[in-house]
Amino acid sequence: MSAEAPITQDVVTIPRKLPEGPVNIVGLTRDGLRAALIDAGTPEKQARMRVDQIWQWVYFRGVRDFGAMTNLSKAYRADLAERFVIVVPEVVSREVSADGTRKYLVRIAGGHEVETVYIPEEDRGTLCISSQVGCTLTCSFCHTGTQKLVRNLTPGEIVGQIMLARDDLGEWPEPGVGSGEAGPRLLSNIVLMGMGEPLYNFEAVRDAMRIAMDGEGISLSRRRITLSTSGVVPEIARTAEEIGCMLAVSFHGTTDEIRNKLVPINKRWPLAELLEVLRAYPKLSNSERITFEYVMLKGVNDSDADARRLVKLIAGIPAKINLIPFNEWPSAPYERSDWDRIEAFANIVHRAGYASPIRTPRGEDIMAACGQLKSATERARKGRTEIAAEAGLTPR
Ligand code: SAH
Ligand code: SF4
Repeated sequence: MSAEAPITQDVVTIPRKLPEGPVNIVGLTRDGLRAALIDAGTPEKQARMRVDQIWQWVYFRGVRDFGAMTNLSKAYRADLAERFVIVVPEVVSREVSADGTRKYLVRIAGGHEVETVYIPEEDRGTLCISSQVGCTLTCSFCHTGTQKLVRNLTPGEIVGQIMLARDDLGEWPEPGVGSGEAGPRLLSNIVLMGMGEPLYNFEAVRDAMRIAMDGEGISLSRRRITLSTSGVVPEIARTAEEIGCMLAVSFHGTTDEIRNKLVPINKRWPLAELLEVLRAYPKLSNSERITFEYVMLKGVNDSDADARRLVKLIAGIPAKINLIPFNEWPSAPYERSDWDRIEAFANIVHRAGYASPIRTPRGEDIMAACGQLKSATERARKGRTEIAAEAGLTPR
């Protein structure tokens, strides 16, 4: 690891107090729920069936009240209500963009806040969820990376974002309506592209995604879940094996020199190591291709030579290259590449045989676009000079 600039910033890590009082059902794995029910007095022989029943109420029907679980006896419902709760994070505010994007400011235990964004498109509805408050990494073009306060979200807080969005969209099946009978889903896809580095909170993200994929509940296919990582190399194979979802990687630079500045985790795991694990991912996870995210920064990583180097580096990896026009945020030390430049870059990638969609910025008017998320409660914002210095740049 290089000694010059820190990969992780001077973060304040919040100690997690063990929860007291009733246990929240949301976020427990099936095994965890079974153990908790037995612990609360449910006979072992019945525990599996109870898990199935409660699971369906919570994750298929969206029920938050034990009283409504009509296939359980009244006495058992009352017992459950004494020992457990069913809670999802609270929505503090909801903003709707002119383009229909919805940004939720979500409060989690301890009063911390994260953001969740719903992006409706013609053929799908994507929910962008957060996995940490802030981020310990310091990518120089990312607003979230300037937030100093960091804590990992719990599985309940991660899957809870899906549930609160379904609440807001009114998307729990009506009584009597079975799975798949309610027409196309408003919330059909998940991207772990909100605040935080999901692979620095691996177990919680894995457990939450397993809950989201469970066929008796929210039932989203693993192909409709995309996890985006800045390149935490040792956890990538684990993602394939233990989650099996689609992978996106924040690539952004085609030489170690550029990528060290943009995505400082590259100093820890440089391009060669990253590419090696990426090469193995599609086979390991049985997914078709990897998404390479590439933010277009004027004069920094957007030349024809960059585009050519990119296609050379990824040769042989089934891939799609998602070009993201840089989204501005206050004091950002970069500018978005000109449109002609982005198109020229896209053409080179396209001619090399890769899909190279240019991601249309969504929800910019409400600061909901990629890399703009940062909770308003956290005001210890770094100044432009500090950010630029960390990235080894001269402020413009
Ligand atoms: N921490 C993870 C996931 C969250 S970021 C990761 O880095 O992959 C989601 C995507 O938005 C990443 O590709 C990130 O590099 C990109 N991004 C961050 N800031 C951005 C900005 N200001 N403009 C455009 N894209 C940005
Ligand atoms: Fe963290 Fe991702 Fe932002 Fe980098 S781009 S600072 S890893 S959230």
